[in-house]
Amino acid sequence: MSLFVASLNSGSNGNCYYVGNEHEAVLVDVGISCRETETRMARMGLSMRKVKAIFISHEHSDHIRGVTVLAKKYNLPVYITQPTLLHGGLRLDDLVTDFVAEQPIQIGTLTITAFLKLHDAAHPHSFIIACGDVKVGVFTDLGAVCENLVQYFQQCHAAFLEANYDEGMLESGNYPYHLKRRIRGGKGHLSNKQALALFIDYKPAYMSHLFLSHLSKDNNDPTLVHNLFNTHARGTEIVVASRYHETAVYHISGSNTQVYAPLVSLQTSLF
Ligand SMILES: [Zn+2]
Ligand SMILES: [Zn+2]
Repeated sequence: MSLFVASLNSGSNGNCYYVGNEHEAVLVDVGISCRETETRMARMGLSMRKVKAIFISHEHSDHIRGVTVLAKKYNLPVYITQPTLLHGGLRLDDLVTDFVAEQPIQIGTLTITAFLKLHDAAHPHSFIIACGDVKVGVFTDLGAVCENLVQYFQQCHAAFLEANYDEGMLESGNYPYHLKRRIRGGKGHLSNKQALALFIDYKPAYMSHLFLSHLSKDNNDPTLVHNLFNTHARGTEIVVASRYHETAVYHISGSNTQVYAPLVSLQTSLF
């Protein structure tokens, strides 16, 4: 059993994460436009035909911007809770499917489990996607490391983990005080230091990849945070999920992992 994972985009300008196997895939959040989602999927050698469902974490625009057009175009079910649907003002009609935290959902051979997280949204959730015993977590927009996060992080072979800001850069930067307070508050975003503490204390020995996600444009530095985590990597490959472009597609398996470069000459999708 194994999973293919990629970030299409990660940051306050848009989030979209792909997790799938050879049969089917899901997207977590569609915070970039439908067209951009299609463009990036194609560039990565991924097919929209494999995508069988969309899961929405919360209603902030950087997580839902493209969902309506994409879901309607491909007739995809959107797993979203009622408070998120209402606060997001989304009109998804009969594509809406509710979900309940901690109750696993089966999409073909994939099992998706949602759990509650701390964030300043109506009903925010994180997700863990499993294929057999291989698990990938999508953990962004986190005000704090809660017990749920610790419990699920410890199970992951790979995880997208928010490392939003460097504390010094946020403090000395020119954001207004109320915004600094919101980001640092218990329902805002996770700092590099908070994310690193989770990684050091709870990373399972078998975690092959950590994707540093939702980096702030103004209050973080990709090289700085990459180096910070690399120092403590202990065998885990550290990848920065960019706010400007998609990542490569990574193959996550229980034993060995490798990067799959897209084959430009290939018309049909491999994944
Ligand atoms: Zn966000
Ligand atoms: Zn958010």
